[in-house]
Amino acid sequence: MSEGGVLFVDHAGVLGGAELSLLDLSAAFGAGSEVLLLADGPFREALESRGVRVHVEALGALKHVKKETRIPGPAAFADAARIATHVSKRAKSHRVIYANSQKAFVVAAAAGLFARRPVVWHLRDILAPPHFSGTNVRAAITLANLRAARVIANSRATAAAFTGAGGHESLVRVVHNGIDPAPFDAVTIESATAARAALRLPAGAFVVALFGRFHPWKGQQVLLEALARLPRVHALFVGAPLFGEEAFASALQAQAARTGVADRAHFLGFRADVPELMRAADVIVHASVYPEPFGRVIVEGMLAERPVIATRAGGVTEIIDDETGVLVPPNDAAAMAQAIESLAADPSRAANLAARGAARARAGFSVTAMVRGVEEAIRDLI
Ligand code: UDP
Repeated sequence: MSEGGVLFVDHAGVLGGAELSLLDLSAAFGAGSEVLLLADGPFREALESRGVRVHVEALGALKHVKKETRIPGPAAFADAARIATHVSKRAKSHRVIYANSQKAFVVAAAAGLFARRPVVWHLRDILAPPHFSGTNVRAAITLANLRAARVIANSRATAAAFTGAGGHESLVRVVHNGIDPAPFDAVTIESATAARAALRLPAGAFVVALFGRFHPWKGQQVLLEALARLPRVHALFVGAPLFGEEAFASALQAQAARTGVADRAHFLGFRADVPELMRAADVIVHASVYPEPFGRVIVEGMLAERPVIATRAGGVTEIIDDETGVLVPPNDAAAMAQAIESLAADPSRAANLAARGAARARAGFSVTAMVRGVEEAIRDLI
């Protein structure tokens, strides 16, 4: 992309799925583009290590813009306007402002107005309760219809929630996330064995692993409940409370102790060695209890050539089906336990699902296709 490219805006300094996607995307857009972060943190370091131009405007959190419950009142718009003034100055040397989250979009919408630049919203959320309050959805849709030149949805499910809530269909382009298979291909038998040995699990343990930030939405509690029904199985919980869900993390520890599975539930915290840990496990579990907008971890589990169990809701069914994995109803610990048991009992079925899943992930979710999709979606704006 030529000089004066895209100003990517993200409110988070931590590494959530949206940020990991933007990492690959912004790296592909080259030096004419730039990432502007509204908070400092490991995301900045990750961008810098990929050679992406990054600037931090840590102007205080958008603390009045909350997605679940609060009504975005005048204080939220005052926060956004103050930050938007700074962002708009930056935006003058770019052709397009691209918002990577709802909070970033609120800021970008105002900055675009001040700087007279088109605004693209990469929508990575299902805009519907229980993810968002009804008021918040209405405010977001109204703002998008007024101020977004394009809405890029990370799945058809995300797009359907947007238009279902009144978002203009003409704005929307669906671009699935792409995941680089290279870090998964780089895992050797030795490094996977070493990762497993470091976990100090009993020899021959059957290991399932759930990757995701700690949030009741992600369903760690359901896997714990399933674990209580599976006396031979060990579970790895990989991830951390990224956005203030510390009480939920403590509740999970308490649940593990109360239900007698604490010695088989391994809480590993946020990890950078996801490919090795996936290969150290026998099965990857995705357990979201609300519709998942996309679910990068599902594609990653497939790229790691592990059988994936996922909950049938939202964008998940655009990634995986009964031929390439195992789908179970959300929030159903009995079904989850049964799916785990059936894979443990039938290694050749598990291996077949893993092989078909890997082929599907490689063919359907490349970084190249994601970058091309975003370029096509915004070409006429540049
Ligand atoms: N992840 C990670 N370390 C962890 C847990 C998760 O790097 O300890 C990564 C995971 O590999 C995936 C992303 O975080 O790429 C989560 O993305 P997903 O779409 O599954 O969920 P989100 O957090 O965006 O809701």
